[in-house]
Amino acid sequence: MKILVCTKRVVDYNVKVRVKSDGTGVDIANVKMSMNPFDEIAVEEAVRLREAGVATEVVAVSCGVTQCQETLRTALAIGADRAILVESTEELQPLAVAKILKALVDKEQPQLVLLGKQAIDDDSNQTGQMLAALTGLPQATFASKIVVVDGKATVSREVDGGAETLSLKLPAVITADLRLNEPRYVTLPSIMKAKKKPLETVKPAELGVDVTPRLKTLKVAEPPKRSAGVMVPDVKTLVDKLKNEAKVL
Ligand code: AMP
Repeated sequence: MKILVCTKRVVDYNVKVRVKSDGTGVDIANVKMSMNPFDEIAVEEAVRLREAGVATEVVAVSCGVTQCQETLRTALAIGADRAILVESTEELQPLAVAKILKALVDKEQPQLVLLGKQAIDDDSNQTGQMLAALTGLPQATFASKIVVVDGKATVSREVDGGAETLSLKLPAVITADLRLNEPRYVTLPSIMKAKKKPLETVKPAELGVDVTPRLKTLKVAEPPKRSAGVMVPDVKTLVDKLKNEAKVL
């Protein structure tokens, strides 16, 4: 069983992002970039499935600029077997990425496509769902447990007030939630080994995909600054203020 796992290069989750002065987006010049944390979880899950003998090959995919190679090398260091970079300097919106992934699904014929539940840069939470729609494959989003047996995946997903369990016939699309696993620490020997693993580069046009953006960002703004707090001398004053000024009690 082959697994295709998607890895997006995003601003590192520790970086405090700054909005560009013209309000057109977030400034990513000289900012640390990393693999989207949910994708790290997806790669870890794919590699665990291969280590357990359920999968035979893990192929990591990233769509974007040349530097996405670094993201793919991280996936290879976690344990993916080979990588595909779909190289583009254009802005790739979720629909464009889903179309690229659909073309790769047609070409590679994986039994399972794993993605993160969302990318922490644009918080779209759309790509997995769009890919499932374009390919007609069954999907389970926000997976917190995946068990693959006899051509079927049993997926637990956290829903409001409990857990839901789904059974999907493979091939299928599954998106990873935070609790699916804890990704391993990447060691130096595995980083060295990853440098020798195959990394293929293709262009969206070679896959027959038009990546022209469909959405236009009108404005990006910082959240409003919080006003300064006040110190109150005692609990009585606090309760009084909450009741009569803030009117929250
Ligand atoms: P989003 O719909 O943008 O929140 O992204 C959901 C998931 O789709 C991510 O966690 C990735 O697994 C995958 N994905 C989105 N964009 C890309 C990309 N440019 N390259 C590879 N995978 C991507």
